[in-house]
Amino acid sequence: MQELRDRILAEGVVVGSEVLKVDSFLNHQIDPAFTMHLGQEFARRFAGSGVTKVLTVEASGIAIALAVGLALSVPVVFAKKKQALTQQGDCYSAEVFSFTRREATLIVVTARYLSAGDTILIIDDFLAHGEALRGLVSLVHQAGAKLVGAGIVIEKCFQRGGDNLRAEGLRIESLAAIESMEPGVIHFA
Ligand code: 5GP
Repeated sequence: MQELRDRILAEGVVVGSEVLKVDSFLNHQIDPAFTMHLGQEFARRFAGSGVTKVLTVEASGIAIALAVGLALSVPVVFAKKKQALTQQGDCYSAEVFSFTRREATLIVVTARYLSAGDTILIIDDFLAHGEALRGLVSLVHQAGAKLVGAGIVIEKCFQRGGDNLRAEGLRIESLAAIESMEPGVIHFA
């Protein structure tokens, strides 16, 4: 998506060799009109897939998922992050290791918001090693729901999570794919 690539080149800040900061429009400050464009693009790519619900994880996924849910006229569910390794009540949960934070987090969805009759589209801001996406896929499988695929705003291809999950049969649509990056230089795939 050219509009997104332009925005990343203009405003993205590469930290070290692994982290891209896009706090000016995606991860801290949010550009509402631009976020709606992202949502419409995902809706276009997954049109006709019969999506009944959009699933993401807090916090940065929520705004994008909302834009997708609005475009597809379906509800949005976000998994909550819990520090505690136990959970209460009727929930689906998965442990996710964050390479950026160097810690494991439990992501949790109350069972009543994901059901076997649902057809789910997963949405997230970044795909790096694939841990967050793998956790969300696990929640969908625990619910017995159908999964149509995942929409990712920015995929960092060199961290290989996308390759591994695609090899397992998951459809992943990323709006910008970064092949390599270093401070001041970003190469798209
Ligand atoms: P993964 O689980 O695929 O390794 O990483 C995906 C999650 O980590 C995303 O949900 C996102 O929150 C965070 N993340 C990974 N890489 C980056 C990055 O370069 N920049 C930002 N802002 N977040 C990232």
